[in-house]
Amino acid sequence: MTKERRVRVRFAPSPTGPLHIGGVRTALYNYLFARQHGGDLIFRIEDTDSTRFVPGAEDYIIEAFRWLGIQFDEGVSFGGNHGPYRQSERREIYKKYVDQLLDEGKAYIAFDTPEELDTKRKEVENFQYDASTRLQMRNSLTLSKEEVDALIADGQQYVVRFKIEPGRDVHVDDLIRGDVSINSSILDDKVLYKSADQLPTYHLANIVDDHLMEVSHVIRGEEWLPSAPLHVLLYEAFGWTDTMPRFAHLPLLLKPVGNGKLSKRDGDKLGFPVFPLEWHDPQTGAVSSGYREQGYLPEAVVNFLALLGWNPGGEQEILSMDELIKLFDLSKCSKSGARFDYVKGIWFNHQYLLRKPAEEWVPAFDQLLREQGIESTPEKEAQVVEMMKLKVIEYTDNEGNKKKRNISFISDLWPLCRFFFVAPETYDKEDKFVRKNWKETSAQEMDELIGVLSALDDKEFTVEGLKDMVEAWCEATGRKPWNAWRVCLVGAGQGPDMYELASFLGKAETIQRMERAIKELK
Ligand code: GLU
Repeated sequence: MTKERRVRVRFAPSPTGPLHIGGVRTALYNYLFARQHGGDLIFRIEDTDSTRFVPGAEDYIIEAFRWLGIQFDEGVSFGGNHGPYRQSERREIYKKYVDQLLDEGKAYIAFDTPEELDTKRKEVENFQYDASTRLQMRNSLTLSKEEVDALIADGQQYVVRFKIEPGRDVHVDDLIRGDVSINSSILDDKVLYKSADQLPTYHLANIVDDHLMEVSHVIRGEEWLPSAPLHVLLYEAFGWTDTMPRFAHLPLLLKPVGNGKLSKRDGDKLGFPVFPLEWHDPQTGAVSSGYREQGYLPEAVVNFLALLGWNPGGEQEILSMDELIKLFDLSKCSKSGARFDYVKGIWFNHQYLLRKPAEEWVPAFDQLLREQGIESTPEKEAQVVEMMKLKVIEYTDNEGNKKKRNISFISDLWPLCRFFFVAPETYDKEDKFVRKNWKETSAQEMDELIGVLSALDDKEFTVEGLKDMVEAWCEATGRKPWNAWRVCLVGAGQGPDMYELASFLGKAETIQRMERAIKELK
């Protein structure tokens, strides 16, 4: 029986490249679970496969979680007293446990070369290294102790294999999937250790570390479910069943459209990132886009990911980290895959962006303006944000379809906001809005309006001041100057309320733009 114990969970990536968004969700669920139970979240680096090591990946992963606000309690770069937390620094520890299994006859040494294994595979259909074949192979079960010792002394490379007893039902008690059982006969004698690099394989290191680090729950992606029965057998072999962690295998993230699991190619095709941060591949130099650089807010990404494969029930979708921590429930995670609805991710960003006061948009907006060679003030920029944040933009998706959406990124503002900072240089007479709204009488009308506006001094050039004055004039004359006035100030059929716009531009700029339009469009 497993007794109540301190909740300790871990996120244990292999540093083989940038962290995939599915890995981010796994870490997030571990974080929510740990926080909910007042437990610990460990960050372990599983780097026993040196052939797949990618420089920079570890720092990238740490930076991604820092950005997302997912905090670890111990592990690589965080410290703690169960370290070292990088598996490549734990060789001696693993060796001891490998020897234990060898001494107890639960594992054996195998000398078969890759060529010998290939020959065997050609000879025997569906060859598997297991109870039915191990006695035909070159290993410590078929060779004498002297022969084995001599081969090792001679420097022959070997692996250590786990001796799996066939014909047993192995049960994995999964918090999401319930009892998952398989027959041990379908498992092969997995390699646990390789003399060539003196490192254990993932399976052994993973189990030994979870045990030594007192991990209580293993929450990880569904792709690891096939390994779980082997892991259960390893716990048994070591005599650790009493403290074996509870398992929870999370649903796969599926493609936005079509079948199969989400891949980087889906992101490239449809135009959304599959990595939290931009990644610069050190080998190829290729750059993959990241949520941060695309202008997503970390809170929005967290909220979006949290609901991929789990939901608390009820209508509320906007949930803060604290609310997620309170509500999270592994037993409510779905067993079937979760479709990666990236459009929903954009919606979340829109929602979170709108909840931010305009001042918080300013630094990024200012940056954008600077890239366009425009200098403005934080006050002006905040005003523009206020006026424009509820607008809709038109865009072309990666498949060439014209679409509309709410402003969802700060960068969406620029194409909508240019005229606030730059006067229309020329007036496009072919523009639909201009053609329709600049009439025979418009020049005369705008001339009159200039007269009306001139009566206001700079201080009176406010939304209220303009409104009183212009509306009085409209009433008296029956004029409807709005669209022609918009042509003057914007040069197109977009922008905020005209009083807001004119007061933003100020008296001099407003009148200048009007005079210019009259001249150009005459
Ligand atoms: N190193 C594995 C990975 O890259 C860890 C799997 C597990 O959590 O057991 O995901």
